[in-house]
Amino acid sequence: MRPLTIVTGASSGIGAAIAVEFSRAGYPLLLVARRGDRLAQLGLDRALCKAVDVTDRPAFEAAVAEAEAQYGPPDLLVNNAGVMPLGTISDQPAEEWRRAFDVNCLALLEATQIVLPGMVKRQRGTVVNVSSLAGRNIYANHMAYSGTKFAVHAMTENMRREHAADNIRFQLLSPGIVETELLQGTRSDAIKDSYTASKRSIGGGLAAESVARAVRYAYELPQDVCIREIVMAPTRQAS
Ligand code: NDP
Repeated sequence: MRPLTIVTGASSGIGAAIAVEFSRAGYPLLLVARRGDRLAQLGLDRALCKAVDVTDRPAFEAAVAEAEAQYGPPDLLVNNAGVMPLGTISDQPAEEWRRAFDVNCLALLEATQIVLPGMVKRQRGTVVNVSSLAGRNIYANHMAYSGTKFAVHAMTENMRREHAADNIRFQLLSPGIVETELLQGTRSDAIKDSYTASKRSIGGGLAAESVARAVRYAYELPQDVCIREIVMAPTRQAS
């Protein structure tokens, strides 16, 4: 039997596509997001859907325990939940930065810390941390968001080194523009319009399904092969 896969932020976009991709390949799933109705609408077999905010550690921990009781221990955690409130240092309310760091960084650390002891004990497991090209490059209006993703890069490489000897894989996923609901987390219409225009100018973003295929490819390689980072973007995206 295939082992349990946990996907955070599975109610839309990349997370939902990963859920579908892994479900079709026969993996039982724990799917987490705040919009439980959207998780249920995916209609996937052997998928425990939990309406949980990833910043609520006890609720996430309880969801993992419930999934583990049903499907056995998790072999893959995809830390995908994220928000992208675009803005600048002058214009953005501090609450947006706090939320972005809470969801994109702190919740990722907490989720990892919850599944890691079991993986260490079993001497196997994979954690995929979803970063971004904005974790490698800077872009206009991506000030705090880029900060969260640069942090994901640094923290993931540290985690990987800390647990390489435990045979645990830490993999960064760094996509360029993907067609999802992510821009809805930005308030400014002007910023949204310019983002959408630049996306149009390259013929649109990647399909989330293409990203999901890459994640499954990297995961299904033997445990002694660690693809440390997947950097992927639309061919027409230059920077
Ligand atoms: P979506 O907005 O479509 O998906 C974001 C997901 O995160 C949703 O399922 C949302 O669920 C979930 N989420 C947000 N906040 C929380 C929370 N507090 N608790 C639980 N779940 C939460 O965007 P994407 O699919 O694009 O985003 C997925 C990841 O990919 C993010 O980390 C993003 O930064 C990254 N990324 C996206 C790119 C893009 O161009 N789209 C490019 C590079 C990286 P709900 O609202 O139901 O809680």
